[in-house]
Amino acid sequence: MIYLNGAFMPIEEARIPVLDRGFIFGDGVYEVIPVYSRKPFRVAEHLHRLQDSLDGIRLKNPHSDAEWTALIGQLIARNEPDDQYLYLHITRGVAKRDHAFPAVITPTIFMMSNPLLTPPQALLAGGVAAVSANDNRWLRCDIKAISLLPNILLRQQAVDAGATETLLLRDGFMTEGAASNIFVVRNHTLLAPPKNHLMLPGITYDVVLELAAAARIPFEVREVSEYEVRSADELLLTSSTKEILAITQLDSKPVGTGKPGAMFAKLYQLYQDYKATVMRK
Ligand code: PMP
Repeated sequence: MIYLNGAFMPIEEARIPVLDRGFIFGDGVYEVIPVYSRKPFRVAEHLHRLQDSLDGIRLKNPHSDAEWTALIGQLIARNEPDDQYLYLHITRGVAKRDHAFPAVITPTIFMMSNPLLTPPQALLAGGVAAVSANDNRWLRCDIKAISLLPNILLRQQAVDAGATETLLLRDGFMTEGAASNIFVVRNHTLLAPPKNHLMLPGITYDVVLELAAAARIPFEVREVSEYEVRSADELLLTSSTKEILAITQLDSKPVGTGKPGAMFAKLYQLYQDYKATVMRK
């Protein structure tokens, strides 16, 4: 069951007009929220980022956080799996095609749920391969915009090379992955690029830094150079659906030992323990 503009329905019955600005221009924003044991994870943080994205594209939030939380609860209840990932999507709505947006327009609100399949044991044990590419996206990568053409083309480069993710470099520094945030490990220290307009402020990124601080794992939030990436002991990628994965190959060369390292093992365990505590609440 999906949610569209005030009603729940089977996805086959969902219809939107072709003049929706989401379809015509990619004029909208989205969120992806993981649900574990029927409980949405870090929902307040996701709704906060949604507000920032809406502000970034000058679209009024159609719902209060309380309303969103209620809708999210209903969507979870109407779908089968205990572990789901929710996709929330808001476009500026339907209007005659014109780049400039009308003063009065009703946004389109769409939400769906899919089963959440966290990475299988083989990926956790072996890690994943990544390729690097020049980050040629726009300068508002902090907005979670539905217009993802650059991210799509960049991640396809990984898939074409038989890899999982594309690590993005801009002006000699790492920004993030095409669909994830990336951490570098050097000398037992976790290095994280600072949140700014060049990357999406990941919810998982925040969780990892909080867990690192609580466990007294040394970390530095600062610009990370291409040299530091290419000579890293470990590379880690994070996202709501992939959680934490080790990148064990970059551009066909082994990262560190070529196997998931100690920092990965530690943070992965801390993340699973944290999830378990949140789910028990
Ligand atoms: N950066 C980009 C470009 C992303 O698309 C995503 C989410 N898939 C992330 C980072 C990770 O964000 P989160 O941890 O909130 O899923």
